This record gives sequence, structure tokens and C-alpha cells, in this order.
Amino acid sequence: MKTLVDITKTAPPSDQPATIRVPEIEKGVGCDFDSYLLVPDNTLDDRIAAAKSRLGKNVVILGHHYQRDEVVKFADFRGDSLKLSQQAAATDAKYIVFCGVHFMAESADILSRPSQVTILPDLNAGCSMADMADIGQVETCWEELESVGGLKVIPVTYMNSTAAIKGFTGERGGAVCTSSNAAAVIRFAFEHGERVLFLPDEHLGRNTAFRMGIPLEQMVVWDPFRELGGNSPEQLRNAKMILWKGYCSVHQRFLPEHVDRVRREIPGVKVIVHPECRFEVVQKADSIGSTEQIAKIIRAAEPGSKWVVGTEIHLVNRLSKELPDRTVQSLDPNVCVCTTMFRISPQHLLWTLDNLCEGRVVNQIAVDEKTKQWARVALERMLSLV
Ligand code: SF4
Repeated sequence: MKTLVDITKTAPPSDQPATIRVPEIEKGVGCDFDSYLLVPDNTLDDRIAAAKSRLGKNVVILGHHYQRDEVVKFADFRGDSLKLSQQAAATDAKYIVFCGVHFMAESADILSRPSQVTILPDLNAGCSMADMADIGQVETCWEELESVGGLKVIPVTYMNSTAAIKGFTGERGGAVCTSSNAAAVIRFAFEHGERVLFLPDEHLGRNTAFRMGIPLEQMVVWDPFRELGGNSPEQLRNAKMILWKGYCSVHQRFLPEHVDRVRREIPGVKVIVHPECRFEVVQKADSIGSTEQIAKIIRAAEPGSKWVVGTEIHLVNRLSKELPDRTVQSLDPNVCVCTTMFRISPQHLLWTLDNLCEGRVVNQIAVDEKTKQWARVALERMLSLV
């Protein structure tokens, strides 16, 4: 028999039922998703809005900056994954529907209150970068580093990593970082060790460390498919930064030639790129910044200024629409979409909300308690620094 809980703790609008009864957690598919593929596009908006309204304050919808417009317009909050997770935890909502990718929903679950349930509308919405650092590979890497002896390594992981990697990092004295505070977190790591194992994005690690004054010669890449990551013990002893061989499939597409081309074609252009881009691209750009920083810098720019942006296309297009008095376009003429995030369709969102309305939780993301505890330690270390 199902355990039922009342999710309507706040007074609903008068046209809503007084109580929506929802099973605590029901596994399974709920309403048949396939039937949602037949819902005519022109009715989706109304149905999503109605389901959201029926759930009222019991649900909070989060939309990442890279999420598609048809979905993000229903978000209660828009932003990067850390900010969104913190905002959701500060609400009274029992259900957190994260329109992002898997590691983001895990982060929301880690930071949420015990009474909150986190949902990812499509479980196939993963992240190519997070998937490049498997916990088994990282544990093997750690054992191999220990076998070299005397390296004193502190792990630092980017927010864009699985909960297991965040937990691993917390348990071994390390911390999580975001693209805007990576330098502060790396500095913290060097206060406690002599080397940093930077996971899972080699570009963010290299770009940040270089800007901190660490020369490229003191950085090695760890290839998880090779013994000692493809390095000799001597190379590891000489290294300050051990960069995990991972990257974002979207940001890695931007090339130095793209920067050269826009400089030739658009006089006076400013190039701003995300630090997940390759080192050679970042070196040629005028400025680098996280998603939040990119948006802030372009919003604060002079009317008439021209911006070419190296990040995911949905954020670029949104800024372009929002700021018609300046030019904002993508660095890559071939559209750079986060295809996994794009998997969260309006149909998935409607299916998720309809299930909640009918008393079912589908696609819950629940991080186990031990991982959650250590991942929180790694996140709290970061938050204490910034
Ligand atoms: S843009 Fe890159 S890092 Fe961000 S979610 Fe997509 S694949 Fe992952």
C-alpha cells in the first residue's frame, strides 16, 4: 500500500483542490511518457502552466542558463547550477524540478533540505564532462598517485562532476569549485598540499592555474586510460597541477581560428569566452567569465558594443534578444548546443508535472547519505572561501 503525504502545506488558490495527495516516492514510469509525444505543441504551454499552477508552492522549477527557451520560460529561477540549488533549498517547495543535467540535479539534492525531493525530467540528460571522470577511475588514479610516494595531493573538483566525485573530494581534504571561484579554491588546496588533482575539466584547471602564475611546464594531464595517467613519476613530482583529461564537448568546439575570424570580420569586437574553452582560445579572448559573469559583463556594456561569445548558444541567443541595442553572437558559426540539456523538452516537463498532480514522483534523483555527507563537506569548504 502506498504511503500518502499531503503536499499542499500552503493555502492553494481557490480554483485548486485543497489537497493533492502524493505518494512519498513511487518508482516507475507513472503516466505513459510516449503519449506525451503526441501532445500538440500549441497546447503544451497551457497544460504546463495549468499543472504548475495546480501544484502551487509545492513545486519549484529550476532552469539552467543553457536550457532551451520553451522550457526555461516556466522556470521560477534561472542561473548556474550552484545558485539554482541554493535558491531551491531556500524555498518551501517539496518538489524541485531541475531542468538541467544529471549532476545539477544531484547537486540540488545534496544541498536540499531532507523533506525535499529532486526530479530530473529526463534521466538521459547527462553531461559529457561529468561522465569523463568515473569514480572507479578516480580511485585508481588516487592509488597510483599514492604509489609514487610523497606527492601530497589535494583534489579539487569542478561543480560539473558527479556526486560521487564531489564526495571523494570532500573525504580527501579537497573542495568543489565553480568556474568563477576556481582560483580561490586552488589557492586553498595549495595551503594544504603541494599538488592539485583537478577534476574533471583540464581546460578550467589549466586556464585558472595559468592565470594564477603557474607555468604550463608545471602542469601534467592525467589520462585515466594509461598507467600513471601517461606520466613518469618524475613528471608527477615536478608538477603542481595534475589535470584530469576531461572536457566539455560544447566549449571544446571553439577554436583559436574562430577568434581570428571574428576579429577580421567585425571591427571593434570584444571576445568573451567561458573558461571551459581551450587554453589557446582563452589566450586570444579579451575576457573570460562564467555564465553569470558573461551575462553581467555584456549587460553592463555600452549600447552599440559588439560581443562575440564562446559559450552555449541558448545563453548567447537569450542575451542577444534581451539586448537589441548591442551585437551579441556566438563565436562558432556552427551552433554550439548542449545536446544533453536539450533533451529536457516541454513534453518531459509536462509529464513530470502531470505525474506530480496525479500523485506520483517520477525520475527522482537521490544521492546516498554517505556520498551526500562528504559532498556537502567539499561544497561547504568552497563556500567558506568565497
Ligand atoms: S555545456 Fe558542457 S559542461 Fe555544461 S552541461 Fe553541457 S556538456 Fe556539461
